Amino acid sequence: MPLVTARQLLDEAAKGGYGVGAFNVNNMEQIQAIMAAAVATKSPVIVQASRGARTYAEDRYLYHLMLAAAELHPEIPMSLHQDHGNSFDTCKSAIALGFTSVMMDGSLREDGKTPATFEENVQVTRRVVEYAHERGVSVEGEIGVLGGVEDGHGAGGSGLEHVTDPDQAVEFAERTGVDSLAIAIGTSHGAYKFSKKPDGSVLKMDILIAIHKRLPHTHLVMHGSSSVPKDLQDVINQYGGRLKPTWGVPIEEIQLGIRNGVRKINVDTDSRLAITGAIRKVFAESPEKFDPRDYLKPAREAMQKVVAARMTQFGQAGHAGDYTPTPISEMAKGYASGKLDTRPSRAAR
Ligand SMILES: [Zn+2]
Repeated sequence: MPLVTARQLLDEAAKGGYGVGAFNVNNMEQIQAIMAAAVATKSPVIVQASRGARTYAEDRYLYHLMLAAAELHPEIPMSLHQDHGNSFDTCKSAIALGFTSVMMDGSLREDGKTPATFEENVQVTRRVVEYAHERGVSVEGEIGVLGGVEDGHGAGGSGLEHVTDPDQAVEFAERTGVDSLAIAIGTSHGAYKFSKKPDGSVLKMDILIAIHKRLPHTHLVMHGSSSVPKDLQDVINQYGGRLKPTWGVPIEEIQLGIRNGVRKINVDTDSRLAITGAIRKVFAESPEKFDPRDYLKPAREAMQKVVAARMTQFGQAGHAGDYTPTPISEMAKGYASGKLDTRPSRAAR
């Protein structure tokens, strides 16, 4: 199956009332883990790569691994998405490479650290939307600033310093025409999201619900949404790791989001924890081993297990065969004709 846009996957998810996990990758084993989970659960899926991942894996390796995944699993609709593009040029290079969806994170300046002004964000995001839509590629924007740092990207802090203002979200959607919108509701990147199980004082689901009511045609995206389950933390610590106690975003809060317009849920930390725990276990229990396959195979299986669990919990499981993939050339026509316009003043009601 050719790679499809995230927009098509999220439109279908909106019709079906479910969410789609977007899982980060850096190497072959992670791509294989995601594909095995998608096949086992019959799930459409978004595979995403950060700038750091593109550098680590090298663009061509990464892209061809994705082509291999598409070739091997024609029954799985999947999208290749640029996670946290920091500039027009990053998004342009992703599109040139063959990514079918890009995130322009204009909430931060090009350094990936300094919060940008609202106007700066609108301008750069609008430019990416015009360029990408002409080529049939979908765009995710971000308004408000997430907490934490991952892959060298992020403003740091707790996640509550720049929570999204619903009025600004509406104006942003109108002026940029993004397909999907990441909002800041208190979540953070990385393993250390919350110091106790989060409640309404630190995880602002009410803001998410308010934004969805006003932007029913813009798909909402939850970043920093690993659940950081205790059993995965325990495996790491049991075999010599030193993770401090931490809480992620509980599955039931993500499911509440899905009932209120969240269509894309980003998961990276949970995969990292699963992989690291599995490798530590082999190293601790079988110190005589030195064939990388002896620990990469269990690592891949551990990631597959957590990804499959998320696919079931987000509701995407069972939906791989629901629709026919639309090539990006057709998506470009849909954008040009206005049929795919999400701006609140123009979207089809
Ligand atoms: Zn993110």
